Amino acid sequence: MRVLVIEDNEGIAQGLRTTLRQQQMAVDIVSTIASAWSALQTEAFDIVLLDLGLPDGDGRELLHQLRTTPKKGLPNPATPVLILTAREEVTSRVTTLDAGADDYIIKPCNTEELAARIRALHRRSAGRVNSTIYCNELEIDTAARTVHRSGKAVELSAREFAVLIALVDSRPRVLSRTQIEAKLYNFDQILDSNAIEVHIHRLRRKLGDTVIRTMKGVGYFVPNDPSS
Ligand code: CA
Repeated sequence: MRVLVIEDNEGIAQGLRTTLRQQQMAVDIVSTIASAWSALQTEAFDIVLLDLGLPDGDGRELLHQLRTTPKKGLPNPATPVLILTAREEVTSRVTTLDAGADDYIIKPCNTEELAARIRALHRRSAGRVNSTIYCNELEIDTAARTVHRSGKAVELSAREFAVLIALVDSRPRVLSRTQIEAKLYNFDQILDSNAIEVHIHRLRRKLGDTVIRTMKGVGYFVPNDPSS
């Protein structure tokens, strides 16, 4: 999962980076509305964490700009937005929710609560009602980060799990290697050119050949019906 954190307090931003990386999320941090907007135009983020008091304006301006963008290409106007707010900002929490924010969390955030809220927003935007995904013969628990294949536990690395979730959440859409990479790695990470192929190869070994399919020259996908 790819998360954009918009926060100008460096201490808070770094704390969020550490917490979210521990949850195997790819995190990019920006500190202004201008840099946030250019990041949103460059990358498809799964979740945005938005501070309200930013050096070049109010976070709500960015929220408004995002929500009123026509839906074509990037940024995606429906990107879930979680507001980072101070305890005393009750009025602004209300107006921000009314302006299109999906949820808020009070700073300093409890790390487990933050991770759970992010998972909940992601789940909702992927159209799921709880943390378990049933896909073909797989049972994937996105909160506990476990996978069972026909009732038997399968050990996946954090990256393998992230690749699987990216494909399962998008199914039956085909994702290119670049689109999968974007969900796993933030802007400043250098990665091996065949990293995704290696993860896919290992996933197929562990989950069987029928779960993840290749569309030659395009990318990978998980079919809705494994017999198709
Ligand atoms: Ca601030």
